[in-house]
This record gives sequence, C-alpha cells and structure tokens, in this order.
Amino acid sequence: MNVDQSPLPGQLARYASDPAQSRGRRIDEPAAPTRTVFQRDRDRVIHSTAFRRLVYKTQVFLNHEGDLFRTRLTHSLEVAQLGRSIARSLQLNEDLVEGISLAHDLGHTPFGHAGQDALNACLKSLPVGSAEQSSGFEHNLQSLRVVDELEERYPGFDGLNLSFETREGILKHCSRANAQWLEVKEPGGVGARFLHGGSPSLEAQLCNLADEIAYNAHDIDDGVRSGLLSLEQLEQVPLFDGHRRAALKVHAGLKGRRLLFESIRLMLSEQVYDVIDTTRQRLGETRVASTEDVRSAPNLVCFSGAMQSASRALKSFLHKNLYRHPQVMENTDRARQIVSDLFAVYLERPAEMTDGALPERPLARAVADHIAGMTDRFAIREHERLMGTSVFPSGAEPTSGTTPILAER
Ligand code: MG
Repeated sequence: MNVDQSPLPGQLARYASDPAQSRGRRIDEPAAPTRTVFQRDRDRVIHSTAFRRLVYKTQVFLNHEGDLFRTRLTHSLEVAQLGRSIARSLQLNEDLVEGISLAHDLGHTPFGHAGQDALNACLKSLPVGSAEQSSGFEHNLQSLRVVDELEERYPGFDGLNLSFETREGILKHCSRANAQWLEVKEPGGVGARFLHGGSPSLEAQLCNLADEIAYNAHDIDDGVRSGLLSLEQLEQVPLFDGHRRAALKVHAGLKGRRLLFESIRLMLSEQVYDVIDTTRQRLGETRVASTEDVRSAPNLVCFSGAMQSASRALKSFLHKNLYRHPQVMENTDRARQIVSDLFAVYLERPAEMTDGALPERPLARAVADHIAGMTDRFAIREHERLMGTSVFPSGAEPTSGTTPILAER
C-alpha cells in the first residue's frame, strides 16, 4: 500500500457521514459556533464521568494487577487511534469514529466480561418486567443508557444528548427483545436496524472492526507481560508468527520485549492495510454513493477472507490460552461473587447505594445501573463494607507475575 495516496485532511467521501446531514440530537440544541455535531459529541464523551471511570475498569487483567496492563480507557484510546487512521485513508469522518470509539465501552461493568455475565444473570433471575428492559444486561445497550440517560451533567437533559450517528455506532449489538423495547421509546431510532435489518454508517462499522483489531493485539501484549502467555506459545498463531519471522529477518537476533512489540506492530499494520484495501474494493463493487446507500447495503468495512480466518484463529487462541487461563478464571469467579452479592444487598437495602432519593426507574434496573457504573476497586471496597469479608484475601491481592524477559524496568 502506498501511504502517500492518503487524502488531504478534511476531504470526505460521498459515503462518509456528513455532520451537516446529521439526523440530529434527541433534544434540539443550537449548533456550536466552532465545532461540528460529531466533534461536539466526542468532546462531551471526553468530559463525561463515565469516561474517567474507564481508567479503573478491567479489560482482561484486574486494574490493580499491574500498572501497565490495558484498562478500558487505554483500550478505547487504541480503538480510536486505529479507527481514525483507517477512516482518514477511506475518507470517512474521523471525528465520528473518534467519538464512537471513545464511547463504545462506557457501559462496561467492573471486572470486564465476568462482571457483565454476573449482572446479566442477576437481572435474568428476576420476574420478567421487573427491570424495565425485557432482557437482562447488555454492555452495548448500557453504553447507550450512559449517554442517553445516566450521565448527569447538563441542566436541560439527562445524558449527553448525542447525535443519532454517534448513538447508532455505540449500539453495535442489541438483542431483538431490547431492540423492540428501544423501538417503543424511539420509533425508527437506533434500535430499528436490529428489527428490520440494514447496516449502520461506515464509521460505526469501522469502530467495530477497530475494536477487534485493538484487543486482539493488546491482549497478546498483556498476556505475555503477565507471564500467562509465552512467545513460544504464540508460534502456534500464524498471524503473529508470520510477523515474528518477518521481524527476525530484518532484525536478526531481536528478542524479548522488542521482538514482541515489533511483531505486534507489523501485525497491526497488516490488518489495517487489509481493512483499507478490502473496504475500498467493496465500496467500488457495490457503488455506494451516499450514507443512505450504505445503510441498505451489507456490511462494507471488513477484512479479506484470508485475514478474517487468521484473525479468528488468533481470537480462539486467546480465548483458550488467556481468557480461560486458570489464573484469569480465578479472578473471574471472585468478580462474579462480588457483583452478585452487591446486587442482592442493594435490592434488599436500596438505601445502601444512595444518600439521596432513588432514581425513578424499577429498583432492579437502578441497582444494575449503579453496579455497572462502579470501578473495579470501588466495587471491591463496597463489597467489603457490605459483606464484612474480602474475596481477595488480604496480602494476597492477585498478581500475575512477570516473565524475566519482559519484567518492567
Ligand atoms: Mg471494546
């Protein structure tokens, strides 16, 4: 790929999201004098409370396991970097990509997927209808709840009152039951495509893929840093190993941390170029000429077939060897315990979670929102306060160890 072909900044393709054509905000507001609607959305996300909480929320490793592991915040920044870089090449709207990327994980619970699964199980154990939405806890829908309802910042409305396009990108998956619930509240809105089909903007599609590229790469890095994965083990993963060999060809004798980083860097570049080339080709073939064309076309931002299977193989390697590693699973069990204990206590004694009035929504949903908003360490402290015991035995806070070659300076 010839990077010199990148368009000049500010040039948007016809199929890119144009802020002047935005479907607007749920509550009308006067336009900002110096910023587009998408730039303003991004700025609102950055200034939100939920965004600052991301720094203390788990990606894979619990926040207190080490200072250098990814958190939800650094993950979101990496997604934004990859997304913007690809958007620029494809002449898509970088500001919209940045806003969606920074907001996409705002609804994540403490303790990553373990926290989400536990909260989902808690809500599903209640009678249908007792928690407002029809179907459990979904982190994408929760991210939307954060920007639509839960942030308390502005005098005139709840949430951040973001544009349709940013909200559409945030809701990347949604169950049919919850889409029906959204459709009642906002007919023809962000839930509609999960009921009637159709694609979101190219910028939203891109954020999805950038998310996947980012976590596949940084989970290798964090996995090796923690000592749970080894460079030797990674030789089983063709996508990584091809680049490890390529790095060694150019830099004979490269090893340890620098070999790991160089292999990941090359792997990231190849995936980025693959997305750009494949998407350009598909845009040409389908001849989309507007955002409306994009919405009625199949997904157009994607990997080539070969890269898709390589990425899938990497994902299943990480699943088997990292996400289900006994040491990770041990913390997963503790996280489940904390979330389900907190849920039970707050449901019985709601006064424990607020020093003021309870929000006007079903109690179970208010409890879920409260827990979902917690950082890892706040949830641990709150659990200790309410239960009088610690699931992390004192003096034995989880550490993942570090391999000698990658020990941090
Ligand atoms: Mg993510």
